[in-house]
Amino acid sequence: MADIQDAGEIQFQCSNCNQLLEVANEHRGKSIACPKCSTNMLVPVLPVAKAVEAPKVQMIERTAKRYKGRLVIATLLGVIGVILLIIGSVQLSTEENPSGGVSFGLGLTMCLFAAIWGIAIRIRIWWHHE
Ligand SMILES: [Zn+2]
Repeated sequence: MADIQDAGEIQFQCSNCNQLLEVANEHRGKSIACPKCSTNMLVPVLPVAKAVEAPKVQMIERTAKRYKGRLVIATLLGVIGVILLIIGSVQLSTEENPSGGVSFGLGLTMCLFAAIWGIAIRIRIWWHHE
């Protein structure tokens, strides 16, 4: 039985240079050196077709989803900031209302914060997708 299981070859990619390697099944679990870049690695015990690409794609999708949520919060913050800014400027122009200045200042701060945060998130998304 062991002879049948050990027959054939196992295909996997070098963890360093992604070179496709073909190794006899009897070397499974043993350490070998990549013929291209000489990196030492373990031969997988089980066949690992596409195992190199899948986690990378999943990671990009996960980070995109995470940053999308933050982008929504930043946008909402910006919208609230604009509303406060308008309320503040209307109050300041129509009457001597000290709360107008507070709304205006708070709105301006929120707008600036949301804008900077939104740009930072977009840069991070771009960075992860490159
Ligand atoms: Zn290699």
